[in-house]
Amino acid sequence: MKLLLHTCCAPCSVYCIDTLRKEEIEPTVYWYNPNIHPYKEYEARRDCLKDYTKLINVNAVFEDDYGLREFCKNVVDDLENRCVNYCYKVRLEQTVKYAKENGYDSFSTTLLVSPYQKHDAIKELGERLAKEYGIEFVYRDFRVGFREGQRKARELGLYMQKYCGCIFSEEDRYQKQIEKDKKYV
Ligand code: SF4
Repeated sequence: MKLLLHTCCAPCSVYCIDTLRKEEIEPTVYWYNPNIHPYKEYEARRDCLKDYTKLINVNAVFEDDYGLREFCKNVVDDLENRCVNYCYKVRLEQTVKYAKENGYDSFSTTLLVSPYQKHDAIKELGERLAKEYGIEFVYRDFRVGFREGQRKARELGLYMQKYCGCIFSEEDRYQKQIEKDKKYV
């Protein structure tokens, strides 16, 4: 099986790659994440993944697209639904296109490892794209290994991000504090 694995960051990739390799599937890591902002954060996550893929000797393709403006334009009218309506779609669609154009017979995503993502929506989208492009979507519920993967990532000293990726998720992280501060202005 020639599998292209959309990869959001190094820590999330740890358990997914370990699991696939146990199944004797050797994935190619595919970086395409225009949802990560600001630029220094994008760079830190991308470069950590570059180092990690070298360390574990896995093939990797880096599609650079720092997309702050494009991303904001596409989500600003419906921030509540930004993950499902735009963010998952833009990344997985680019992954499946690259897979199709470059001779892969399947694709998957490390987004399936996170208990914080909308897992069912990602699965549904992957299956829909698989039908549309005539290529297999390798579904695994990697969430069972989320903690184990994160622990190993910490032990390896990988860069551990503090928020999902977009500037709005960075705001969410501090939302309670922001609300509290407003009361005392
Ligand atoms: S919260 Fe995460 S998944 Fe949702 S839009 Fe932002 S970066 Fe994408």
